[in-house]
Amino acid sequence: MAQRKFTLDEKDLPTHWYNIQADLPTPLPPPLHPGTGQPIGPQDLAPLFPIELIKQEVSRERWIPIPEPVRDAYRLWRPTPLIRALGLEKAIGTPARIYYKWEGVSPAGSHKPNTAIAQAYYNKQEGVRRLATETGAGQWGSALAMAARMFGLECKVYMVRVSYDQKPYRRVLMETWGASVVPSPSPDTNAGRAALRADPDSPGSLGLAISEAVEDAATREDTKYSLGSVLNHVLMHQTVIGLEAKKQLELAGERADILVGCVGGGSNFSGFAFPFVADKLAGKTDARIVAVEPMASPSLTKGRYLYDFGDAAMTTPLLKMHTLGHGFMPAPIHAGGLRYHGMAPAVCALYDTQVIEAVAVHQNPTFEAAVQFARAEGFVPAPESAHAIRVVIDEALRCRESGQAKTIAFNLSGHGLFDLGAYERYLKGQLEDYEYPADKVEQALADLPKVAV
Ligand SMILES: *Cc1c(COP(=O)(O)O)cnc(C)c1O
Repeated sequence: MAQRKFTLDEKDLPTHWYNIQADLPTPLPPPLHPGTGQPIGPQDLAPLFPIELIKQEVSRERWIPIPEPVRDAYRLWRPTPLIRALGLEKAIGTPARIYYKWEGVSPAGSHKPNTAIAQAYYNKQEGVRRLATETGAGQWGSALAMAARMFGLECKVYMVRVSYDQKPYRRVLMETWGASVVPSPSPDTNAGRAALRADPDSPGSLGLAISEAVEDAATREDTKYSLGSVLNHVLMHQTVIGLEAKKQLELAGERADILVGCVGGGSNFSGFAFPFVADKLAGKTDARIVAVEPMASPSLTKGRYLYDFGDAAMTTPLLKMHTLGHGFMPAPIHAGGLRYHGMAPAVCALYDTQVIEAVAVHQNPTFEAAVQFARAEGFVPAPESAHAIRVVIDEALRCRESGQAKTIAFNLSGHGLFDLGAYERYLKGQLEDYEYPADKVEQALADLPKVAV
């Protein structure tokens, strides 16, 4: 019998995070001040983030030690298992060997606590009392609500209106961990009030919710802001995933030919892939590393690589990234998550230099892959993670045709037990494939800030 599960001991939990900035052939383009268009300094970010996280954001040290209290919290569910998808391989009839790193075992059900714990810890260390954040589907909000509670911080979550209405259980989960949750746009901030005046029924967007949370943090002494993806320090905290996975693939006696992850803002993909990207940059592997995004929100494959705001109200620093424009509103029919208009600058730089690839997939084939996976492996994947599964199955089918026994590894970033509404719509045949039109990208890009770079 082939071995199914590759587990590490508590003592094998990584002691350091891996910082890809040490190994990028060219430094990342700096974030720019939205007013002056000049590179921002640490003092510009100090109202929003604790100093230690600002340092990590710009650090070029390769290894950053993980503080003991953070490792201790990680030990609740880490190291997470790497599982050979024997059931899926059989269902597909492929000679490929498929492995998944299973991040759904965290208390919040996704990879997001890997950074939420670290962020709550550093804020607590620096005397912060309260954290403000945004959440789309609710995964990030629930991860931060849990982490804030562990370190004795208050937590306010601006939850995108459509999700607030359609996904009450995630809200209840956040409230169970003690967070206060409001629908965004909310009457609690200037950005929210302006959006409500323009459209009292606004469904909200991630960009708008970010504006509200940033405003909350910037206008209160006791509060800082917390972001669940996109930024360098967030991606770095997630590298515990890939560092563990590398050891586990060694235990399995494997070298991955193809590594796959889904991308919204880029954090789970980066956390899984960057330790392998390090090997690729060092010429130690020529594995294909594939980021998968939805056709309905295709920032890498259809966006332009330009400086844009991180939020809809145009208040955050400008980041050089593949973007659909900060005014991007995802189509309401899109059920699969991964809705952010931009993408982590580090992921964009690697895509631009062709170290990694990107693929966009439609939502019906994505849910088809999710259901196939659930029936073969038992675990019900988050719709986000299912984007990666779609591409893994497609690659495994190619192996079936060519007879090649490739090794494919992917990050299963979370479970879908709070997403059964989306599964229900798929099973009833109510989901439509929707491709974000190229001319809308062009239109949105017309409002991009003009900076001289
Ligand atoms: C939030 C989330 C994502 C997308 O965010 P990234 O920052 O791109 O990882 C993917 N999968 C799950 C389960 C999530 O909760």
